[in-house]
Amino acid sequence: MKDWLVEIRREIHMQPELGFEEVETSRLVSKWLERFGFQVKKEWAKTGVVGLLQGREPGKTVAIRADMDALPLEEANQVPYASKVKGKMHACGHDAHVAILLGVAKFFWSMKDQVKGNIKWIFQPAEEGGGGGRIMVDEGILENPNVDAIFGAHVFPFLPVGKVGVYEREGLAATDRFTIKMIGKGGHAASPHVSKDPILAAGHLVTQIHSIVSRNINPLENAVITVGKVSGGTAFNIIPDEVELLGTVRSLNPRVREELKSRIEQVTQGVAVSFGMNYRLDFEYGYPVLVNDSEMTRLIISACSKGIGKENVEVLKPSMGGEDFAYYLQKVPGSFFRLGCRNEEKGIIHPYHSSLFDIDEEVLPFGVEMFVRIIDQYLGLNIA
Ligand SMILES: [Zn+2]
Ligand SMILES: [Zn+2]
Repeated sequence: MKDWLVEIRREIHMQPELGFEEVETSRLVSKWLERFGFQVKKEWAKTGVVGLLQGREPGKTVAIRADMDALPLEEANQVPYASKVKGKMHACGHDAHVAILLGVAKFFWSMKDQVKGNIKWIFQPAEEGGGGGRIMVDEGILENPNVDAIFGAHVFPFLPVGKVGVYEREGLAATDRFTIKMIGKGGHAASPHVSKDPILAAGHLVTQIHSIVSRNINPLENAVITVGKVSGGTAFNIIPDEVELLGTVRSLNPRVREELKSRIEQVTQGVAVSFGMNYRLDFEYGYPVLVNDSEMTRLIISACSKGIGKENVEVLKPSMGGEDFAYYLQKVPGSFFRLGCRNEEKGIIHPYHSSLFDIDEEVLPFGVEMFVRIIDQYLGLNIA
């Protein structure tokens, strides 16, 4: 199946589409699912597609999910299949996820008669911040038939191709963000006493925010706050009216998540009061913590080990990145895992979201095999 998978992956790679704009990608997906004779439903969360294979005999329903969106980034790779769209690139490997799931569909299409229960394929838009997964869950993607378990995978440039990585429970972080405006009073730089300098206040605020993780959170918990953008001011001799700070807040535990939020509120208020100025704080909840079901993780370990040996399945530490697969896992048990796509010999070593990101395409048939083994074991088909 490898050539077919590579062709599909490259076709998608050359025509990257951003979140909620995956029109061509979703057309390609539906075309294949329809050709396999599956029940296909389109236009979930705008561009999402779902395929359903109903087995000959009744049984459980298992779902697998791929994301389809690319990133606003100019590809720097000099390869024949490089992005043909200026400023857009599949730099997170979602092109591979789509190809892999289609490969799983092709496999079960050829084995239709041996399927007991149902297999549902979920192709979602907008994982990169748009929360396409949340919308599809709200639209009822896990119903009709009700999904008993769900699995999702992401290619992983930190593991060599041929290896699988799993998270026992927490896999990825809750990813919240804040926007803070320190509102002072502008004036001449030479007369600070008649103005209120929001730049100085913002400087204090940045250092105070950075004391939250180190002084308020249990050192055995996980948390990150990064102030990623500070903007304010126009010239060397002007005190501006206001300064804006943007940042991200990440945690693996709902209690810590709330604590971070409330400490940011207190610290911002405190700094504003101490400098005699106003402020505005907007705290926006992002993706929740991704929590795997331990039993489903054990199933992945056992199913994949059968094919590649225990030594090639690694239990990973959680990452502070985010994933909207978390929304599916809030509703049904399942597990999110990693497929190694690194190959140092081929120079495939760049991290996600880099303009040089690429995958070793061996991960395509490998990923298909891992999903097939997982589904086989979950539905008890005994074909793998
Ligand atoms: Zn990404
Ligand atoms: Zn991704």
